[in-house]
Amino acid sequence: MTKTRCALCFFLILLCAVALTSGAQNPQPAPPPFAVEPQSSQAQQQNYPPELLEQLAAIKAAALTDDYAYRQLAHLTENIGARPSGSLQAKAAVEYVAEELRKLGLDVHLEEVKVPHWVRGAETAQLVEFTGQAPGSAQKIVLAALGGSSSTPADGITADVVVVNTFDELKALGHDKVAGKIVLFNELFDKQKAAAGLAFVAYGEAVRYRAAGAREAAALGAVAALVRSVGSADFRLPHTGFSFPAGIPAGAVTAEDSELIAHLYSQGKVRMHLTLTPQKLPDTTSYNIIADLKGSEHPEQMVVVSGHLDSWDLGTGAIDDGAGVVAAMEAAEILQKLHLRPRRTLRVIAWMDEENGGAGSAAYTKDNSAEFPRTVAAIESDSGAAHPLGFEARMTPAAADLLRPALNVLQSIGANALRETTYPPGADISAMSEAGVPALGILQDGRTYFNYHHTAADTLDKVVPNELRENAAAMAVMGYALASTKDPLPR
Ligand SMILES: [Zn+2]
Repeated sequence: MTKTRCALCFFLILLCAVALTSGAQNPQPAPPPFAVEPQSSQAQQQNYPPELLEQLAAIKAAALTDDYAYRQLAHLTENIGARPSGSLQAKAAVEYVAEELRKLGLDVHLEEVKVPHWVRGAETAQLVEFTGQAPGSAQKIVLAALGGSSSTPADGITADVVVVNTFDELKALGHDKVAGKIVLFNELFDKQKAAAGLAFVAYGEAVRYRAAGAREAAALGAVAALVRSVGSADFRLPHTGFSFPAGIPAGAVTAEDSELIAHLYSQGKVRMHLTLTPQKLPDTTSYNIIADLKGSEHPEQMVVVSGHLDSWDLGTGAIDDGAGVVAAMEAAEILQKLHLRPRRTLRVIAWMDEENGGAGSAAYTKDNSAEFPRTVAAIESDSGAAHPLGFEARMTPAAADLLRPALNVLQSIGANALRETTYPPGADISAMSEAGVPALGILQDGRTYFNYHHTAADTLDKVVPNELRENAAAMAVMGYALASTKDPLPR
């Protein structure tokens, strides 16, 4: 018995010892994620062999010392100028870019697009009657017609103004209080959001008034519709843009003038004399430029790199969107310079008519939708030329995972962020995105973009050469990566 008890004691002691020692040998708690070296997935390793990673590093290095994109942008903005749909300059830009892409040795095809041809006329406005008005005086209002606007008679119209902040306020006024009046939508562009890096959120909230304000006002009998300019700067600049044609004159007043009108309106009657004489000319023929650098193994599969060649007419379309076009052009230029041939076709597209209705994107969809299943990815840059932070991407998580090694190559210039979206990350590639093509947009620092967007100040000097090089690097690295991985991006 004693022996047995002793044996039992010994067994228990042994058990405790084992428990204690095993406790001491327990693995340390897992280190926090930031302390762990990132592991690449099997799919990433298979698709990015060391040779491809070396090529991507060489492409980035070449882009960061290349001035091709900047020289092209200087020609588009300074020698050609504003490129609104249907204009002589848009035609000149098509011819120029197509020729430059031919010089790079690409297979260039012009795709016909019927575009609207809207031209700006006179645009003046004065407040001719308001509370506390100094005798004989008037207040000048700085404004610009919106694309698609109808015209007033040559000597203008005079009408009372009603100011609303929202569509709901307009509807609450109803036909009786709106008919015969000039409606001003005084919707704010949220500058704090823009300053905090959410410029496109602020834009999305305000731009609906520019797009649909005239239509809503016309439905209630208004004789004209004005919108507070959708932008973030305080330089009394009107921001133009697309407005659904509503059969009435439509314009954007500066933020400062919108404030003035709203403040006077809060004190009583405000009457305006408004002259806007744009013309809608017959539709004209223009073109998307499609330029292929044929793939070595799968020429039938393609990766689109793109920007839109048309611009608004007030500035010279440097940040919107000459920069996107030249970044896409440089992606091809660098591959040719480095004698790199992607496995799939790299397709450069310079889109026409993004700004005034999207006819170019619609024509491409009509003519090429049979290729969408073979379009491995589509990239568009249409958010300026400022420092790129990375990409917005609309694709499956497995596809997004395959972007990571290319993003890692861009980490040294800070362009490695990935924001997965549920919306198409580019207007011209939205139809492709809706059809299931993995879609990407370069995500630029947008904090100052809406200071200049659609204004007379969208000019070449707003583009910092080194930031444009970074954008070209992002476009070229991602374009070549997606055209060269072993497998196409999964859907
Ligand atoms: Zn644009």
